[in-house]
Amino acid sequence: MTKTTTTTAVRLRGLTRHHRDVRALDGVDLDFAAGTFTAVMGPSGSGKSTLLQCAAGLDRPTAGSVEVGGTALEGLSERRLTLLRRDRIGFVFQSFNLLPSLTAAQNVALPLRLAGRRPSRTEVREALARVGLAGRERHRPGELSGGQQQRVAIARALITRPAVLFGDEPTGALDSTTSREVLAMLRRLVDEDGQTIVMVTHDPVAAARADRVVFLVDGRLAGELRAPTVESVAARMAGLEAPETASPGSDNPVGSLAC
Ligand code: ADP
Ligand code: MG
Repeated sequence: MTKTTTTTAVRLRGLTRHHRDVRALDGVDLDFAAGTFTAVMGPSGSGKSTLLQCAAGLDRPTAGSVEVGGTALEGLSERRLTLLRRDRIGFVFQSFNLLPSLTAAQNVALPLRLAGRRPSRTEVREALARVGLAGRERHRPGELSGGQQQRVAIARALITRPAVLFGDEPTGALDSTTSREVLAMLRRLVDEDGQTIVMVTHDPVAAARADRVVFLVDGRLAGELRAPTVESVAARMAGLEAPETASPGSDNPVGSLAC
């Protein structure tokens, strides 16, 4: 029998996160299929980071459920959640968050050391080679460019072979050339290794590298694009960022009110 079922790496149901009266997330249902690359977009304050933090078990939702690799997060104790985060979830930030006093190899090996494992040289070398940093094992973050530092952070996030890699604007601090290189690498990780990636971005060029773009507005899902292009993403974002104001000189001011 041919296997045609797609596995769901991350399943969100009714995901809600309130901060007093601020509805950062308000009932989001989303599935991220294993081996796919999804971009999350939306205006500033629309809940993108909150969605990622809740999906990664870094923040506890007010209501709703998160399942990662088939495990429901809500019933887990703090300790089990910490273990699941360490072993099954990778996270990269805009600001790399490497430890400056450790070498690239030591940074990459850290999650395994925290798990009480002594990582082999080969394992770490291969992880760095996979992100195009063969030979940089002994460099410290300060001796690497921004793009290289982000690659080390990605190698560190992937060393445990997580079910999903989350990135909150991982290319946000990089110049456009370096950003393109990092995006090409993320794309390769999906295509060649079957990695699942969910990435928040503001950049239509970055989002267009994904298989699918989901849009958030005011903590709710506001549509999605499959097989996105730079143009289709930019057009959708322009519509979301100024939905109720017609641009001056617009041919069809009424049209801009339509969703
Ligand atoms: P985005 O990443 O899309 O810019 P966020 O997820 O950071 O949006 O924030 C969504 C909303 O929740 C915003 O209105 C933000 O001000 C609010 N918010 C986020 N974190 C907190 C917090 N810890 N306390 C209060 N409000 C918060
Ligand atoms: Mg954010």
